[in-house]
Amino acid sequence: MNTLVDIPVERIKQSRISSVDFKTLGFGNYISDHMLVADYKDKKWHQPKIMPFGELLMTPAILSLHYGQSVFEGMKAFKNKKGEVSIFRPQRHHQRLLRSLERMCMPAISEELFVESLCALIAADAAWVPDAEGSALYIRPVIFATESRLGVKISDEYKFVVLTSPVGPYFAKPVRVKVEEHYVRAAEGGTGFAKCAGNYGGAFYPAEQARQAGFDQVLWTDAKEHTYIDESGAMNVMFVLDGKLVTPKLSTSILDGVTRNSLLTLADDMGMPKEERRISIAELKAGFENGKLTEAFGVGTAAVVSTIAIINIDGTDYSLPPDSEASFQQRVKKKLHNIRMGHEPDTHNWNYNVPLK
Ligand SMILES: *Cc1c(COP(=O)(O)O)cnc(C)c1O
Repeated sequence: MNTLVDIPVERIKQSRISSVDFKTLGFGNYISDHMLVADYKDKKWHQPKIMPFGELLMTPAILSLHYGQSVFEGMKAFKNKKGEVSIFRPQRHHQRLLRSLERMCMPAISEELFVESLCALIAADAAWVPDAEGSALYIRPVIFATESRLGVKISDEYKFVVLTSPVGPYFAKPVRVKVEEHYVRAAEGGTGFAKCAGNYGGAFYPAEQARQAGFDQVLWTDAKEHTYIDESGAMNVMFVLDGKLVTPKLSTSILDGVTRNSLLTLADDMGMPKEERRISIAELKAGFENGKLTEAFGVGTAAVVSTIAIINIDGTDYSLPPDSEASFQQRVKKKLHNIRMGHEPDTHNWNYNVPLK
């Protein structure tokens, strides 16, 4: 199936691009001209369509609103110096989407339909892909239940929608995080490994409590004992401990981040020893005390790396040494950036070229 040539495009009458200030994009402030929509009905996905971004007509009885069958993805596309556009690791995002869909009893979507949909939408809005260093087109696929009915059941109907948003470089200042020892984001056996909407809704309240107490983010711990680190906010978390890159081992309560996986792979390329294992709060505390904990940072598609300056453990603020250009997090961030922009060879085949016609 070569859907790329088949996906019909209903073009917007008047592009909104002239209202976008590409110098101050920020994150998620603009949505590009077009969206892609496909329906699942009668046990199969139907032909996607590209149309102007706008409202969809649905009843308030759609099952996703009531029972939470909604999963999403977050990716980026980059434009290199030659004007070529590539999506970063769409197949790996697709594999994760399949795991999320399965966990939420939602129908699988083929890699072909997924990747070709992304490519067709990006080709339609190619002008929206920013080319300034550090900028990107953020891609947000979402699948949600659309059967209109009140009884509790697995929906028989769904929509697959893809939106894109031009985003600027992420200049976040180092964050203060609080080890969460009361609330839980995800428990083993739950939905923490799935990128489902409800995980976010349930995390707002603890994050808000932390914000009111003067922190930027929560450092989630395991649901059973609040002893081991899981993630930081909606990012995976990494540490440099005793000269090694250390990150929590994946479990059913941790999201398998594509950035996490990419940075672990680059650590190998850079000769940085790495460990995926359980990390206790006590170990972090000891690391602060003996000076062996030298870096802590969140990792995810939006920011790539978010430097952690302070970790609050049991009411005490522990400070990390100031971040510098020589730190592992800055070097690995730069390497990833260089690969995406075509400044360095893409030896792992992570950049998926988008045919722009
Ligand atoms: C999306 C997400 C991440 C980061 O995943 P990436 O694929 O690197 O963007 C980490 N944790 C949670 C909870 C997430 O939802």
